[in-house]
Order: sequence, then structure tokens, then C-alpha cells
Amino acid sequence: MRAMVLDKAKQPLQARDVPKPKPGRGQLLVRVNSCAVCRTDLHVVDGELPNPKLPLILGHQIVGRVEEIGEEHSTFEIRNSKFAIGTRVGIPWLGWTDGDCAYCRSNRENLCDNARFTGYTIDGGYAEFTVADARFCFHLPERYNDVEVAPLLCAGLIGYRSYRKTGDARRLGIYGFGNAAHLISQIALYEGRELFVFTRSRDTKTQQSAKLLGAKWAGGSDEMPPEKLDAAIIFASVGPLVPMALHALAKGGVVVCGGIHMSDIPSFPYADLWEERVITSVANLTRRDGEEFFEIAPRVPVKTKTETFPLEKANTALEKFRAGELSGTAVLTIAE
Ligand SMILES: [Zn+2]
Ligand SMILES: [Zn+2]
Repeated sequence: MRAMVLDKAKQPLQARDVPKPKPGRGQLLVRVNSCAVCRTDLHVVDGELPNPKLPLILGHQIVGRVEEIGEEHSTFEIRNSKFAIGTRVGIPWLGWTDGDCAYCRSNRENLCDNARFTGYTIDGGYAEFTVADARFCFHLPERYNDVEVAPLLCAGLIGYRSYRKTGDARRLGIYGFGNAAHLISQIALYEGRELFVFTRSRDTKTQQSAKLLGAKWAGGSDEMPPEKLDAAIIFASVGPLVPMALHALAKGGVVVCGGIHMSDIPSFPYADLWEERVITSVANLTRRDGEEFFEIAPRVPVKTKTETFPLEKANTALEKFRAGELSGTAVLTIAE
């Protein structure tokens, strides 16, 4: 099969013919139709995440159809599997957990001690086929086509988990108005939150589009909002935004770091944390986040903006992402 392979960090992906993977017990062989590109893919390529599988096939927002169900599957399991041959599935970042550690046993499988991640510690979707543990795959809402739905699988899911951590905050700040922010803002507005959007200073174009979407206020991240915020989510990987967001919070407010990787956070006055303000982070996702999100997304309905690239142009997609030259989420199209 055709695949784009990362041999070593800090190198472009190599287009290569590799053996088609074989599904093991409980796994699905999936013919990949589309795979969205995530900022985490860039962090993996740049060697900023420790110990990736190498060589590696990136990609953890995979949409495809079940081609084969693992041979060792007993007939009982096949009969009771939620997926049949030909079913459209979504494959997210969380690829496997042990189901047995203290975190898995307390509904926090996103923190599993032995978790494996798609497109990072197991091969992902920058390829014609991939295998995935059926228990971690999702059914996808019918109203979306294969390209539209792909960005929901990470930007949507991890964004949703970040959003849920803000509880019932009325005045919600969002720092970094990229893919995840664009998706989650639509849910926040649907649920009646007041939205305050922070972009790079003087990025009036993004500020304008946030206002068009329904934000009450949009400005530079170096500005203070007109009102104190009950919560803020930071989707940019910029550590210095944390004390800035904290400073904009009302008493008891929370700052949620919604990215997987962030640069260091500079020190800040204790007075900004005083009065029960909280800084927290979001790591990965649980299957429950996915089920909830795919239930609410089509009702809003959350709309995605995408720019497609053929599989072989994965390096171009990554470089355009890095340079901020994309007009939506980059989605690799593999089969139609
Ligand atoms: Zn576990
Ligand atoms: Zn991601």
C-alpha cells in the first residue's frame, strides 16, 4: 500500500510502498478515505513528543471503511461487534488502553498508564490502509462527508473535552482561534455562552471572522477583555498565554490548556491565582468524550472548514500548516 512514512524526526515524510497491515484479534482493517492533519503531527515530526514509534505513519483523524475484521475474532465477537464490513468508522488519537490501571478503572482512560496513540506510538492514517482496535473506533454522523468529518476527530474531540472542563462558565475566553477553537466556539454559542476571542495582536482578519461567527468581543491576546472571564481555553501552543489568560479571569475562573504540547509558562504574581482560580490541562480523550461530541456536533450543526491535499502532498500540507497558510484544516484524501 502507499504510505507517507516518518523515518526520523526533523525529516520530511517519505512516500513509500509498505506491506498492508494485518488486523489482529479485535482489530479492524480500514481502507482510509481521508485523514485530517493535526498540530500534534507537526510536533511529532519536529521531535517534540518523546519516543514515537519509528518508522511511523502519522495521522490520527482517520475516516475510512471497514475492509476486514481481525481473523482471530471469534464468531461471537463478530456477531456482537458494532462494526460490519463496509461500515464507515472514525479512528481517533486514543488507540488502545489496558483497561486495568487505576485511571482506566476510574473513567479516566485518557490518562491510562499504558495508553497507545494513533499516528504516534501506533501507525496512523497517512496511508491507504490502517488497523485499529475496534473498541476505540467511532460511528460517524451521516450528515458529514468523509472530508468534512475528519477534523472533528481530534480538533473536535479534544476541543470538546477542553470545553467541558469550563463547566457552566457564562463568559468564555478562547485564546488561539485555529481549528479546535472554530469548532468548539460553535458549540459554546449553541449553548448560549458569551464568547471572547483572542488572536495574535493586529490579526484583524481572524478577529473579524470570530465576530462573524458570533463572538461578543475579539481582540489581541495582549489585550484585556471588556469583562472578566469565567473560563478561558488556550488552543495555541504558547506558554506565555497562560498567565495572560489567568489575569483576565474572574474569581473562581479556570484556564484550560487545550493543546497537547505547549512551550514553558513564565512566572506570574500569586495574586492572579488567588481567589480559587485554577489552571488545568487536557490530555487526550476518552471514548465517552467522542460519543457525546458526535451526538451534539450534528445538532448544532458544527461546520468544518477544510483544504484537501492528495496523500502524496502530506509534506506540503504540514508545511502550509506550520506557516499558517491554510484556509481550513488540511485533510489528506486517499480513496474516494
Ligand atoms: Zn489504563
Ligand atoms: Zn490531534
